Amino acid sequence: MSDDPGPLFARAAVLAAEFRRGIATARQRPEHAYAAAVPDWEGPTPETGQPAEAVLEELVARAGPGLHASTGPRFFGWVIGGSHPAGVAADWMTSAWGQNVGNHQAAPAASAAELVSGKWLVDILGLPEGCSVGFVTGATMANLVGMAAGRSEVLRRVGWDVEADGLFGAPPIRVVVGEDIHVSALSALQFLGLGHSRVIKVATDGEGRMIPAALAAALEAGSGPAIVMLQAGQINTGACDPFPDLIPIARAHGAWVHVDGAFGLWAKAAPERAALAVGVEDADSWATDGHKWLQSPYDTGFAIVRDPEAHRRAMAFGASYLPSVAAGERDPTHYVPELSRRARGFATWALLRHFGRAGIAEMVERNCRVAGQIADALRGEPGIAVVNAVALNQVILRFGADREADADRLTLATVARLQSDGIAFAGASQWRGQWLMRVSVSSYATTEADGQMTAGAIRAAWHTVRGSNA
Ligand SMILES: *Cc1c(COP(=O)(O)O)cnc(C)c1O
Repeated sequence: MSDDPGPLFARAAVLAAEFRRGIATARQRPEHAYAAAVPDWEGPTPETGQPAEAVLEELVARAGPGLHASTGPRFFGWVIGGSHPAGVAADWMTSAWGQNVGNHQAAPAASAAELVSGKWLVDILGLPEGCSVGFVTGATMANLVGMAAGRSEVLRRVGWDVEADGLFGAPPIRVVVGEDIHVSALSALQFLGLGHSRVIKVATDGEGRMIPAALAAALEAGSGPAIVMLQAGQINTGACDPFPDLIPIARAHGAWVHVDGAFGLWAKAAPERAALAVGVEDADSWATDGHKWLQSPYDTGFAIVRDPEAHRRAMAFGASYLPSVAAGERDPTHYVPELSRRARGFATWALLRHFGRAGIAEMVERNCRVAGQIADALRGEPGIAVVNAVALNQVILRFGADREADADRLTLATVARLQSDGIAFAGASQWRGQWLMRVSVSSYATTEADGQMTAGAIRAAWHTVRGSNA
């Protein structure tokens, strides 16, 4: 490579644009699944170097067959956002600038972009002004951070310094979760020494929402420090916990309330859907993702805490070679587990600036409307059952509902058929012991026309499966 990276960067931009231009009409599945993709990459350890330009061409050629069209408009597998171009371009600048947001002296612009975009985010999500925001890799880490802040605070109130003295000998913390919590929220408990099995599980209703009387009974059955973990956006049904009923119960027992709102918290950003997550703002901490409904490039999540002091206490550490912060200043590393870190504030800022409050509201609302449209189009179809109340962006479907003994097999066959047809992509999931097709609508690129095509593709896949199982 010459000293000028221009030609290399320009070529990368051309290749990236080609990929994205073709995505809407591309098959919504990779040509090579994992087992076939490994040989695409295999080769001896490189002994000698190659020019960067040649490496770029080779990278793109090798990756191609194993790329999933997850930025495409009919990708509904898991809740995966579409990596909007405005964020991708900002992310390229982030890489080109090479900023390490491990401290505010090393990366002043990146630290400032985090400060300001964090404030915008809290405003758009309707959370209390003055919350602190840590820029992490995703909701898994955001749950870890929120729960760490809760662990710190509930133990501080009983005179225990968990950061200094750890959990051995500490007063026990009761951790209360709903039966239908996301597994990644449980992993936070595993990392924090609270145990993923040691939890008190509270019964939920048919949509996976925690039942208030059951929470009250669980908390009344014991005493001492407590953390209640709630949820905005159940991964199968999309349902949010009834926060106005649950949070006052938790408060009455002095519990810290953390909310896993990886995607569901964004309901608050869309006026027509905000009622679904009403009252969530009364919690103490929230985890949410940038790379789901904000459409950030991977990876971006946000740990938001009402009490910045508890947040900072749980995460901060100092060393003589790291700069100190003046009173009222924010050091980006004081709110996350890492030191050296990608400057995620740039893409976050760019996306919030690009969409604005109105653009985010429009996108969330449109995604929810498409979910409803797919459910409505399939509801009357013989043999297809819409299993959840489609209020947010999730649709779960069961096939062969009229032949229950065979419905798991028929459902999995329909999912496989849809995937191999490649018009739309959805995955399978289990809910209440039954296999379902799970359709998660969460991309900026998805329109009503895609909803219509998807309903047609699902119906066709079901007809094929039913025909060969008649
Ligand atoms: C996606 C998701 C997570 C995990 O988030 P990551 O960004 O993958 O770490 C946690 N909880 C819920 C409800 C989710 O949808």
